[in-house]
Amino acid sequence: ALTVPDKQVDSVCPYCGVGCQMTYNVKDNKILFVEGRDGPANHGRLCVKGRYGFDYAHHPHRLTVPLIRRADAPKSGDFTMDPTRVMDVFREATWEEALEYAGGKLAEIRDNFGKKALAGFGSAKGSNEEAYLFQKLVRVGFGSNNVDHCTRLCHASSVVALLEGIGSGAVSNPVMDVTKAEVVIVIGANPTVNHPVAATWIKNAVANGTKLIVMDPRRSDLARHAHRFMQFKPDTDVAMLNAMMHVIVEEGLVDKDFIESRTIGFDELRANVAEYTPEKMAPICGIDAETLRYVARLYATSKGSMILWGMGVSQHVHGTDNARCLIALSLMTGQIGRPGTGLHPLRGQNNVQGASDAGLIPMMYPDYQHVSDEKARAGFEKHWKLAPGTLDANPGLTVVEIMDAIDAGTVRGMYIMGENPAMSDPDANHARAALASLDHLVVQDIFLTETAYLADVILPATAFAEKTGTFTNTDRLVQMGRQAIDPPGQAKPDLWIIQEIARRMGLDWQYKHVSEVFDEMRHAMPSIAGITWDRLERDNAVMYPCRKEGDPGEAVVFVEDFPRESGRARFVPADVIPAAERPDTEYPMVLITGRQLEHWHTGSMTRRASMLDALEPDPVALVHPLDLDELGGKPGDVITIESRRGRITLYARADAGSPRGAIFVPFCYYEAAINRLTNAALDPFAKIPEFKYCAIKVSVG
Ligand code: SF4
Repeated sequence: ALTVPDKQVDSVCPYCGVGCQMTYNVKDNKILFVEGRDGPANHGRLCVKGRYGFDYAHHPHRLTVPLIRRADAPKSGDFTMDPTRVMDVFREATWEEALEYAGGKLAEIRDNFGKKALAGFGSAKGSNEEAYLFQKLVRVGFGSNNVDHCTRLCHASSVVALLEGIGSGAVSNPVMDVTKAEVVIVIGANPTVNHPVAATWIKNAVANGTKLIVMDPRRSDLARHAHRFMQFKPDTDVAMLNAMMHVIVEEGLVDKDFIESRTIGFDELRANVAEYTPEKMAPICGIDAETLRYVARLYATSKGSMILWGMGVSQHVHGTDNARCLIALSLMTGQIGRPGTGLHPLRGQNNVQGASDAGLIPMMYPDYQHVSDEKARAGFEKHWKLAPGTLDANPGLTVVEIMDAIDAGTVRGMYIMGENPAMSDPDANHARAALASLDHLVVQDIFLTETAYLADVILPATAFAEKTGTFTNTDRLVQMGRQAIDPPGQAKPDLWIIQEIARRMGLDWQYKHVSEVFDEMRHAMPSIAGITWDRLERDNAVMYPCRKEGDPGEAVVFVEDFPRESGRARFVPADVIPAAERPDTEYPMVLITGRQLEHWHTGSMTRRASMLDALEPDPVALVHPLDLDELGGKPGDVITIESRRGRITLYARADAGSPRGAIFVPFCYYEAAINRLTNAALDPFAKIPEFKYCAIKVSVG
């Protein structure tokens, strides 16, 4: 018989940063199906993840009761997890016992070893309110700024370059502006896979005459729609982009008025790119000089040119330099501050923008107010009703630095909410060993992730559809996510758990409803001050900046000035810096990591979504067919990939879009956790690791 939903709840997709609005159709506390809604970012469209990736919430692996590690279950970073044998390692506990142990022991470590002995990872999968409250707990309850989340692993370098260059880490124009652009550059991003609905808007724009330039070492589906596809050699972004800027300067295509009236530092940039002729850079980046010249002219002279980029730009030891070049391109040509222009780093998770805005980063309070800024510190001390001088003026440690600090014995206890560093951190064997060596690890999650497996206490939390909160998409659009179903068993809302941990660390917080947290946020964050809970309830989405109640919100920013002290943007020159680990005779190939369409991040949700798992059930590596042939293999063969840090086996898939000599592996497969192989070398400015390049050797079998 036809199953008819008894309830429809409007919400947003839990996956990527596009932020598609959708409706959950529910019967008897079960999500039956999902439909797209007419939201500003999707207008009814959904991709395969949004449409079919919801039944993970009902998966039998859900954590439904607090768990405490058995005394006879030693921790080791070298483990093979069996989710069906959880009770060999953990025992059930009451909430009271679990919270007393979790929070009590964190407080004990703080009191015995000092405030810097604790650290916390929040999550871009959580709501703005959860991110805000979590960072407040670390700053006030732990007493340091040792709080970070996966933004460190995705766009930290973009944000550093944007803050430095134009004074704001968010996008200048929404994705939908591609439909107003004459030229769109997509570089180091594969939106067809990672931001599928955004990719449909790009394809629509192309159909209406926009010239699309795709720049990427891998040929993606989007390249089929491109006016020019520039398959540059991995790791040569700066060489290619500086060559384009050289052409723009040499041929007098700069926007002199814009440079003079709205920027500083152009002379240094011009001097720097003088040496980067297209002819010299062509053999380095693999793009011929004429194409470099043609695309530079096209970008500079169009009525509106827009740049969108992804992790292919940001996840390098020169990630900040890569982004500096993109910013400089837009500034020197005045291609910013108008509809159909600008800079758009495509955000990966549905709330990575919001979590960063809410202060889930070690150097900034909410709204990017630096912790070392006395005025900002005093403001938050007042706002949070703390005695003057309470908050730490020193930036905290970042994700990879926290793992190193555990090794060094300075960080001894952690609270991790919704992140899975045992899968997502670079050199994951090292990260797992570090997590296993902690005196105390508290993990709050919906599944027994690889990270939770190393915990002393596991606190069962709520899945996306089980809670209400706000989420900020890649466009700066704050959207309302609404609870559609009840959590299973004894699982509890994350906001409740954070408050209970806070209570055991000496804080008396009494937030009764998520709207109270949002209200506190907006009074601390000028950029969202005008967004009220009632308005979100009514309109579902409001774009920031929205400084006063009633403001419509600004889709395009930097129209008149840049939010820097001088009001002017700043050029920052960049030179070529090689990857930290280059191929050699022992490890002759290059590893590139990323995501695939059906799975999302470490796979904890999508691999438990039946439809998505059926589509992509096994770990795969994408290899150029000629490389596969030279290795003596064929599609479907098992191959072994090894770096200086680890080894995995998985299936080979022929992919003519892969560059010769480089292999692409998604990072969602626990049975072939590719981050065991990646390099933890960091970009010096943003501390983002080099996920997009390390040396490997590959064999069949
Ligand atoms: Fe969800 Fe992103 Fe797909 Fe939209 S494009 S349905 S937000 S995963």
